[in-house]
Amino acid sequence: MARKPGFPAQLDLPAAAARAARPAPAPLSAPAAAPQGLGLDSSAVRTRMVQKLAASGIRNATVLHAMATVERHRFVDSALVNQAYEDTSLPIGLGQTISKPSIVARMSELLLGAEAARGAGLGRVLEIGTGCGYQAAVLSCLAREVYSMERLRALHEKARDNLRPLRLANVHLLFGDGMLGYAQGAPYAGILAAAGGAAVPQAWTEQLAVGGRLVAPMALAGGQQALLVLDKTAHGLQQTLLEPVHFVPLKSGIA
Ligand code: SAH
Repeated sequence: MARKPGFPAQLDLPAAAARAARPAPAPLSAPAAAPQGLGLDSSAVRTRMVQKLAASGIRNATVLHAMATVERHRFVDSALVNQAYEDTSLPIGLGQTISKPSIVARMSELLLGAEAARGAGLGRVLEIGTGCGYQAAVLSCLAREVYSMERLRALHEKARDNLRPLRLANVHLLFGDGMLGYAQGAPYAGILAAAGGAAVPQAWTEQLAVGGRLVAPMALAGGQQALLVLDKTAHGLQQTLLEPVHFVPLKSGIA
């Protein structure tokens, strides 16, 4: 009887052949069926995506490696798989979107710039807005522990389904209002928000470690949004507003 491979894949091949068949770096995926429309191996399209990210200014090797590793097509609807490696946001249901790869890479790189990440790298990270779970999977390659919170139960469950086969032991999915943060995991070396509000909730700055960094879209007057980087130092908070961005709104409560 055919046995479904576990994770990591247990293939009934001689060891050398199995090694040769394994792509490097090993993608963060279950050995499930080949993705529709992407052929047997999606690593070539992902490599092209990463080359474009590097050409557009992403320098951090850890971020580029994470972007090459996480299979974005696993996080979008099957009808959208062919667009999974284009630099575009895509609908994930309930009016929400998966962020485009360039902004995921950009925010990840900014987060790694935290004072607290120097030396031993990023420790605990809080993500607000799990959505489909893609950014959380990328963060799992960059931080020791990832807490990711979503206010929409259906998306929290979708992310759980998407991430389950990847068995990322350092990703903790939480259902709740991220505006309150998650005190149990604090203090955080990094907080990343995937939804934009008009102000930074107090819980976020309270739960940030000294030396920690918050990266979040901020709503400006006139309906525009810009990327905010906020560093918590021993002398207080330092804010920098960067380029314009387009994120879904940060909302309070759960649904
Ligand atoms: N990082 C996600 C992007 C999801 S879009 C991904 O990789 O797919 C942003 C998400 O933020 C939406 O799912 C939205 O429901 C969620 N969100 C908005 N306000 C929130 C809040 N207060 N707490 C938790 N999640 C929130």
